[in-house]
Amino acid sequence: MEQKIILTGIRPTGKLHLGHYFGAIQNWVKLQDEYNSHFEIADVQALTDNFDNPKKVRENVREIAIDLLSCGIDPNKSTLFIQSMIPEIAELTVYYSNLVTMARLYRNPTVKTEIGQKKAIFGNSGESVTYGFVGYPVSQAADITAFEGECVPVGEDQLPLIEQCREIVRKFNSIYGETLKEPVAVLSDNKRIKGLDGNEKMGKSLGNAIYLADTEDEIKNKVMSAVTDPKKIKKDDPANPKVCMVYYYHKLIKNDNINTVCSECKNGTRGCVACKKELITKMMEFLKPIQDKRKYYEQHLDEVDQILISGTNNARAKAKATMKKVRKSMQIDYYEE
Ligand code: SF4
Repeated sequence: MEQKIILTGIRPTGKLHLGHYFGAIQNWVKLQDEYNSHFEIADVQALTDNFDNPKKVRENVREIAIDLLSCGIDPNKSTLFIQSMIPEIAELTVYYSNLVTMARLYRNPTVKTEIGQKKAIFGNSGESVTYGFVGYPVSQAADITAFEGECVPVGEDQLPLIEQCREIVRKFNSIYGETLKEPVAVLSDNKRIKGLDGNEKMGKSLGNAIYLADTEDEIKNKVMSAVTDPKKIKKDDPANPKVCMVYYYHKLIKNDNINTVCSECKNGTRGCVACKKELITKMMEFLKPIQDKRKYYEQHLDEVDQILISGTNNARAKAKATMKKVRKSMQIDYYEE
Protein backbone atom coordinates (compact mmCIF):
# COMPACT_ATOMS: atom_id res chain seq x y z
CA MET A 1 0.00 0.00 0.00
CA GLU A 2 1.33 3.45 -0.91
CA GLN A 3 2.36 5.46 2.11
CA LYS A 4 0.89 8.92 2.66
CA ILE A 5 3.28 11.86 2.38
CA ILE A 6 4.10 13.62 5.60
CA LEU A 7 5.97 16.93 5.71
CA THR A 8 7.50 18.69 8.64
CA GLY A 9 10.42 20.99 9.22
CA ILE A 10 12.81 22.51 11.68
CA ARG A 11 14.60 25.86 11.66
CA PRO A 12 18.40 25.63 11.74
CA THR A 13 19.10 28.21 14.41
CA GLY A 14 20.97 26.10 16.97
CA LYS A 15 21.72 22.60 18.18
CA LEU A 16 18.76 20.51 19.29
CA HIS A 17 17.83 19.98 22.93
CA LEU A 18 15.63 17.57 24.86
CA GLY A 19 12.62 19.84 24.26
CA HIS A 20 12.97 19.22 20.52
CA TYR A 21 13.62 15.53 21.06
CA PHE A 22 10.64 14.73 23.29
CA GLY A 23 8.44 17.42 21.74
CA ALA A 24 8.79 16.34 18.12
CA ILE A 25 11.74 14.29 16.90
CA GLN A 26 10.99 11.14 18.87
CA ASN A 27 7.60 11.16 17.15
CA TRP A 28 9.13 11.82 13.70
CA VAL A 29 11.37 8.76 14.10
CA LYS A 30 8.26 6.62 14.66
CA LEU A 31 6.38 8.23 11.76
CA GLN A 32 9.08 7.13 9.30
CA ASP A 33 7.70 3.58 9.33
CA GLU A 34 4.14 4.66 8.64
CA TYR A 35 4.56 7.56 6.22
CA ASN A 36 6.58 8.66 3.24
CA SER A 37 8.35 11.20 5.43
CA HIS A 38 9.89 14.49 4.33
CA PHE A 39 11.94 16.46 6.85
CA GLU A 40 12.81 19.98 5.80
CA ILE A 41 15.71 21.96 7.23
CA ALA A 42 13.91 25.30 6.99
CA ASP A 43 16.80 27.71 6.43
CA VAL A 44 14.67 30.21 4.48
CA GLN A 45 12.21 30.33 7.34
CA ALA A 46 15.08 30.72 9.82
CA LEU A 47 16.19 33.78 7.83
CA THR A 48 12.89 35.56 8.52
CA ASP A 49 14.22 36.09 12.06
CA ASN A 50 17.93 35.92 11.26
CA PHE A 51 18.21 37.73 7.90
CA ASP A 52 21.11 39.76 9.31
CA ASN A 53 23.01 36.68 10.50
CA PRO A 54 23.22 34.24 7.58
CA LYS A 55 26.40 32.67 9.02
CA LYS A 56 24.44 31.37 12.00
CA VAL A 57 21.80 29.78 9.76
CA ARG A 58 24.36 28.25 7.39
CA GLU A 59 26.45 26.72 10.17
CA ASN A 60 23.42 25.18 11.79
CA VAL A 61 22.10 23.46 8.66
CA ARG A 62 24.69 20.69 8.95
CA GLU A 63 24.45 20.66 12.76
CA ILE A 64 20.70 20.04 12.57
CA ALA A 65 21.20 17.35 9.95
CA ILE A 66 23.70 15.61 12.26
CA ASP A 67 21.32 15.92 15.23
CA LEU A 68 18.40 14.48 13.25
CA LEU A 69 20.44 11.57 11.89
CA SER A 70 21.81 10.88 15.38
CA CYS A 71 18.28 10.74 16.79
CA GLY A 72 17.26 8.10 14.27
CA ILE A 73 16.01 9.91 11.18
CA ASP A 74 16.92 7.30 8.60
CA PRO A 75 17.83 8.53 5.10
CA ASN A 76 16.84 5.12 3.70
CA LYS A 77 13.30 5.63 4.92
CA SER A 78 12.92 9.41 4.75
CA THR A 79 13.84 12.45 2.70
CA LEU A 80 15.97 15.01 4.51
CA PHE A 81 16.39 18.22 2.53
CA ILE A 82 17.40 21.89 2.60
CA GLN A 83 14.59 24.38 1.93
CA SER A 84 16.60 27.05 0.11
CA MET A 85 17.86 24.53 -2.44
CA ILE A 86 14.31 24.13 -3.72
CA PRO A 87 13.47 27.43 -5.48
CA GLU A 88 10.05 26.03 -6.45
CA ILE A 89 8.93 26.64 -2.85
CA ALA A 90 9.76 30.34 -3.20
CA GLU A 91 7.91 30.48 -6.52
CA LEU A 92 4.83 28.86 -5.01
CA THR A 93 4.99 31.29 -2.08
CA VAL A 94 4.71 34.19 -4.52
CA TYR A 95 1.62 32.72 -6.20
CA TYR A 96 0.01 31.97 -2.83
CA SER A 97 0.66 35.50 -1.55
CA ASN A 98 -2.15 36.74 -3.82
CA LEU A 99 -4.60 34.40 -2.13
CA VAL A 100 -4.20 35.66 1.43
CA THR A 101 -5.18 39.04 2.81
CA MET A 102 -3.01 40.93 5.28
CA ALA A 103 -5.97 41.04 7.67
CA ARG A 104 -6.21 37.23 7.60
CA LEU A 105 -2.49 36.87 8.30
CA TYR A 106 -2.66 39.26 11.24
CA ARG A 107 -5.61 37.26 12.60
CA ASN A 108 -3.65 33.99 12.55
CA PRO A 109 -3.27 33.21 16.28
CA THR A 110 0.26 31.84 15.88
CA VAL A 111 1.41 34.97 14.02
CA LYS A 112 -0.44 37.19 16.49
CA THR A 113 1.35 35.61 19.46
CA GLU A 114 4.76 35.84 17.82
CA ILE A 115 4.24 39.48 16.78
CA GLY A 116 3.23 40.20 20.39
CA GLN A 117 6.51 38.63 21.60
CA LYS A 118 8.52 40.71 19.11
CA LYS A 119 6.82 43.90 20.16
CA ALA A 120 7.53 43.06 23.80
CA ILE A 121 11.22 42.72 22.98
CA PHE A 122 11.69 45.51 20.42
CA GLY A 123 9.02 47.99 21.49
CA ASN A 124 5.47 48.51 20.48
CA SER A 125 5.92 50.31 17.17
CA GLY A 126 5.79 47.22 14.98
CA GLU A 127 9.02 48.36 13.31
CA SER A 128 10.59 44.97 14.03
CA VAL A 129 7.89 43.04 12.19
CA THR A 130 8.93 42.39 8.58
CA TYR A 131 6.80 41.51 5.59
CA GLY A 132 8.62 38.16 5.40
CA PHE A 133 7.78 37.40 9.01
CA VAL A 134 4.07 38.17 8.72
CA GLY A 135 3.97 36.10 5.55
CA TYR A 136 5.67 33.00 6.88
CA PRO A 137 2.42 30.98 7.08
CA VAL A 138 2.16 31.50 3.31
CA SER A 139 5.64 30.15 2.73
CA GLN A 140 4.84 27.30 5.11
CA ALA A 141 1.79 26.45 3.00
CA ALA A 142 4.12 26.33 0.00
CA ASP A 143 6.52 24.04 1.92
CA ILE A 144 3.75 21.56 2.58
CA THR A 145 1.98 21.58 -0.75
CA ALA A 146 5.07 21.68 -2.99
CA PHE A 147 5.58 18.04 -1.99
CA GLU A 148 1.88 17.23 -1.97
CA GLY A 149 2.17 16.76 1.77
CA GLU A 150 -0.99 15.05 2.95
CA CYS A 151 -0.28 15.02 6.65
CA VAL A 152 1.60 17.45 8.88
CA PRO A 153 2.56 16.43 12.42
CA VAL A 154 1.93 19.40 14.69
CA GLY A 155 1.31 20.40 18.25
CA GLU A 156 -1.96 22.11 19.13
CA ASP A 157 -0.40 25.60 18.98
CA GLN A 158 0.41 25.12 15.29
CA LEU A 159 -3.08 24.10 14.19
CA PRO A 160 -3.89 27.65 12.93
CA LEU A 161 -0.97 27.39 10.48
CA ILE A 162 -2.37 24.20 8.99
CA GLU A 163 -5.84 25.73 8.80
CA GLN A 164 -4.36 28.69 6.93
CA CYS A 165 -2.64 26.29 4.51
CA ARG A 166 -5.93 24.46 3.91
CA GLU A 167 -7.67 27.77 3.18
CA ILE A 168 -5.00 28.70 0.63
CA VAL A 169 -5.32 25.33 -1.10
CA ARG A 170 -9.13 25.62 -1.24
CA LYS A 171 -8.89 29.11 -2.69
CA PHE A 172 -6.31 28.03 -5.24
CA ASN A 173 -8.42 25.06 -6.34
CA SER A 174 -11.60 27.14 -6.51
CA ILE A 175 -9.97 29.77 -8.76
CA TYR A 176 -7.63 27.69 -10.92
CA GLY A 177 -9.29 24.27 -10.81
CA GLU A 178 -8.67 21.18 -8.69
CA THR A 179 -4.85 20.98 -8.54
CA LEU A 180 -3.56 20.74 -4.99
CA LYS A 181 -4.17 18.43 -2.06
CA GLU A 182 -5.52 19.81 1.19
CA PRO A 183 -3.24 18.57 3.98
CA VAL A 184 -4.50 17.42 7.35
CA ALA A 185 -2.86 17.99 10.70
CA VAL A 186 -1.72 14.91 12.56
CA LEU A 187 -1.93 15.99 16.16
CA SER A 188 1.08 14.56 17.90
CA ASP A 189 1.09 14.00 21.62
CA ASN A 190 4.05 16.32 21.68
CA LYS A 191 3.93 17.93 25.00
CA ARG A 192 5.80 21.09 25.72
CA ILE A 193 8.91 20.09 27.67
CA LYS A 194 9.61 22.10 30.78
CA GLY A 195 12.98 23.66 31.49
CA LEU A 196 15.29 22.69 34.35
CA ASP A 197 14.34 25.99 36.02
CA GLY A 198 10.66 25.00 36.12
CA ASN A 199 9.75 27.26 33.19
CA GLU A 200 6.86 25.81 31.15
CA LYS A 201 9.09 25.71 28.08
CA MET A 202 12.63 24.53 27.47
CA GLY A 203 14.42 26.94 25.16
CA LYS A 204 17.83 28.13 24.08
CA SER A 205 17.01 31.77 24.80
CA LEU A 206 15.75 30.83 28.27
CA GLY A 207 19.07 29.18 29.19
CA ASN A 208 17.28 26.17 30.70
CA ALA A 209 17.95 23.49 28.10
CA ILE A 210 19.87 20.22 27.99
CA TYR A 211 21.33 19.79 24.51
CA LEU A 212 21.62 16.40 22.86
CA ALA A 213 25.33 17.11 22.38
CA ASP A 214 26.03 18.32 25.94
CA THR A 215 29.07 16.83 27.68
CA GLU A 216 28.83 15.14 31.05
CA ASP A 217 30.28 18.24 32.74
CA GLU A 218 27.72 20.50 31.09
CA ILE A 219 24.89 18.19 32.15
CA LYS A 220 26.32 17.99 35.67
CA ASN A 221 26.32 21.80 36.02
CA LYS A 222 22.79 22.10 34.69
CA VAL A 223 21.23 19.27 36.71
CA MET A 224 22.94 20.34 39.96
CA SER A 225 21.24 23.74 39.68
CA ALA A 226 17.81 22.37 38.70
CA VAL A 227 14.78 23.46 40.71
CA THR A 228 13.61 21.00 43.39
CA ASP A 229 10.82 21.08 45.99
CA PRO A 230 11.53 24.38 47.83
CA LYS A 231 9.98 22.96 51.00
CA LYS A 232 12.71 20.34 51.31
CA ILE A 233 15.44 22.02 53.33
CA LYS A 234 17.21 19.11 55.02
CA LYS A 235 18.28 15.85 53.40
CA ASP A 236 15.70 13.82 55.31
CA ASP A 237 12.73 16.17 54.87
CA PRO A 238 9.87 14.44 53.04
CA ALA A 239 9.14 16.23 49.73
CA ASN A 240 6.70 16.37 46.87
CA PRO A 241 8.27 15.00 43.66
CA LYS A 242 5.44 16.48 41.59
CA VAL A 243 6.88 19.99 42.05
CA CYS A 244 10.50 18.94 41.43
CA MET A 245 12.17 19.34 38.04
CA VAL A 246 14.69 16.61 38.85
CA TYR A 247 11.85 14.14 39.29
CA TYR A 248 10.24 15.48 36.09
CA TYR A 249 13.41 14.59 34.18
CA HIS A 250 13.76 11.16 35.84
CA LYS A 251 10.27 10.49 34.47
CA LEU A 252 10.93 12.03 31.07
CA ILE A 253 13.92 9.79 30.32
CA LYS A 254 12.03 6.81 31.77
CA ASN A 255 14.41 6.00 34.62
CA ASP A 256 13.60 2.38 35.48
CA ASN A 257 14.13 3.26 39.14
CA ILE A 258 11.36 5.90 39.09
CA ASN A 259 9.12 4.24 41.70
CA THR A 260 11.98 4.18 44.21
CA VAL A 261 12.84 7.83 43.42
CA CYS A 262 9.22 8.77 44.08
CA SER A 263 8.72 6.81 47.31
CA GLU A 264 12.11 7.73 48.81
CA CYS A 265 11.49 11.39 48.01
CA LYS A 266 8.07 11.28 49.65
CA ASN A 267 9.23 9.56 52.81
CA GLY A 268 12.42 11.61 53.21
CA THR A 269 14.97 8.83 52.71
CA ARG A 270 16.51 10.42 49.60
CA GLY A 271 18.65 13.52 49.51
CA CYS A 272 18.44 15.92 46.56
CA VAL A 273 22.18 15.76 45.82
CA ALA A 274 22.11 11.95 45.48
CA CYS A 275 18.94 12.20 43.45
CA LYS A 276 20.55 14.68 41.05
CA LYS A 277 23.66 12.51 40.75
CA GLU A 278 21.46 9.56 39.79
CA LEU A 279 19.76 11.73 37.16
CA ILE A 280 23.13 12.75 35.68
CA THR A 281 24.15 9.08 35.32
CA LYS A 282 20.80 8.10 33.80
CA MET A 283 20.80 11.12 31.50
CA MET A 284 24.24 10.20 30.15
CA GLU A 285 23.04 6.62 29.58
CA PHE A 286 19.99 7.96 27.77
CA LEU A 287 22.05 10.27 25.55
CA LYS A 288 24.85 7.78 24.84
CA PRO A 289 23.40 6.17 21.67
CA ILE A 290 22.56 9.63 20.25
CA GLN A 291 25.99 11.01 21.11
CA ASP A 292 27.78 7.93 19.73
CA LYS A 293 26.00 8.42 16.41
CA ARG A 294 26.79 12.15 16.53
CA LYS A 295 30.49 11.35 16.91
CA TYR A 296 30.28 9.05 13.89
CA TYR A 297 28.65 11.70 11.68
CA GLU A 298 31.06 14.41 12.89
CA GLN A 299 33.86 12.19 11.61
CA HIS A 300 31.99 11.47 8.34
CA LEU A 301 30.83 14.89 7.20
CA ASP A 302 30.98 13.81 3.54
CA GLU A 303 28.33 11.21 4.31
CA VAL A 304 26.11 13.89 5.93
CA ASP A 305 26.54 16.13 2.87
CA GLN A 306 25.70 13.24 0.52
CA ILE A 307 22.51 12.50 2.50
CA LEU A 308 21.50 16.16 2.21
CA ILE A 309 22.32 16.38 -1.50
CA SER A 310 20.47 13.21 -2.38
CA GLY A 311 17.46 14.07 -0.15
CA THR A 312 17.27 17.55 -1.66
CA ASN A 313 17.44 16.16 -5.21
CA ASN A 314 14.55 13.79 -4.47
CA ALA A 315 12.50 16.54 -2.86
CA ARG A 316 13.20 18.92 -5.73
CA ALA A 317 12.04 16.41 -8.34
CA LYS A 318 8.73 16.19 -6.48
CA ALA A 319 8.43 19.99 -6.18
CA LYS A 320 9.17 20.41 -9.89
CA ALA A 321 6.34 18.01 -10.76
CA THR A 322 3.94 19.94 -8.51
CA MET A 323 4.94 23.27 -10.04
CA LYS A 324 4.31 21.95 -13.53
CA LYS A 325 0.71 21.28 -12.50
CA VAL A 326 0.43 24.62 -10.69
CA ARG A 327 1.69 26.65 -13.66
CA LYS A 328 -0.60 24.77 -16.03
CA SER A 329 -3.62 25.50 -13.83
CA MET A 330 -2.61 29.17 -13.57
CA GLN A 331 -2.06 29.35 -17.35
CA ILE A 332 1.55 30.44 -16.95
CA ASP A 333 3.08 27.28 -18.38
CA TYR A 334 4.60 29.10 -21.36
CA TYR A 335 6.58 26.82 -23.65
CA GLU A 336 6.58 23.96 -21.12
CA GLU A 337 6.47 20.49 -22.60
FE1 SF4 B 1 13.42 16.22 43.79
FE2 SF4 B 1 14.81 14.06 44.26
FE3 SF4 B 1 14.94 16.13 45.96
FE4 SF4 B 1 12.72 14.67 45.78
S1 SF4 B 1 14.72 13.97 46.47
S2 SF4 B 1 12.84 16.90 45.84
S3 SF4 B 1 12.70 14.13 43.59
S4 SF4 B 1 15.65 16.08 43.82
